[in-house]
Amino acid sequence: MNLILLGPPGAGKGTQAEGLAAKHDLVQLSTGAMLRAAVKAGTEVGLKADAVMKKGGLVSDDIVVRIIKDRIAEPDCENGFILDGFPRTLPQAAALEKMLRSAKRRLDAVIELKVDDKVLVERISGRFSCSKCSAGYHDTFKPTKVRGVCDTCGSKDFTRRADDKAETVQARLMAYYKETSPLIGYYFAKGRLETVDGMGSIEQVGADIEAAIENLAG
Ligand code: ADP
Ligand code: AMP
Repeated sequence: MNLILLGPPGAGKGTQAEGLAAKHDLVQLSTGAMLRAAVKAGTEVGLKADAVMKKGGLVSDDIVVRIIKDRIAEPDCENGFILDGFPRTLPQAAALEKMLRSAKRRLDAVIELKVDDKVLVERISGRFSCSKCSAGYHDTFKPTKVRGVCDTCGSKDFTRRADDKAETVQARLMAYYKETSPLIGYYFAKGRLETVDGMGSIEQVGADIEAAIENLAG
């Protein structure tokens, strides 16, 4: 099964992708996480992406399309993947369609997560993750079970994203509405889109996504 989670920054794509990947034995592919790893490693891609990401803009289509094309060709993606943060522009969606067609694979469902802007800002400002295993948390909405200890790997090292600052969040939201939201119409027209209310609890949204997948892929 191949899925896309579509939605603004902070909508819960990464959180839901984590759960779905474990449940359905799929690989979670977050272009944001891959780009952050490239920045940290100081690769050529990382050097190009860094300044754009700091400002909350979108990295060029060429770069992210190449990253995804290489990644979905790897053996662990054979059973399927969840795209979280890709595609983000119409040219990226067209490139994805082309690569899936040539690999004789199909897109089973595109799940749009709808969340109010005010709530997005709240979610982003409290977000943190484990430095070791990348498990995602929130100060209020999803704290670790034991304070200061990662539920998944036991690490005591956590990190907050440099672009989760209030100034950058505005630019990221603008980029979403301008460049990414047209994908909602694009996938609706293809009969692949299901919209899920992302305002509920993590568990409720997860259950609604499962039902939406059943609707489309079932
Ligand atoms: P995205 O990947 O779409 O940018 P995340 O999955 O990282 O968003 O979620 C943003 C923040 O909101 C995280 O700190 C996460 O723990 C929290 N979060 C995710 N889903 C919910 C939810 N349904 N209710 C409350 N908080 C949530
Ligand atoms: P995310 O982790 O999905 O919030 O992405 C963090 C940042 O990485 C974004 O603000 C963009 O600068 C960049 N990015 C991630 N995915 C893409 C993409 N598909 N296209 C362009 N830029 C991206």
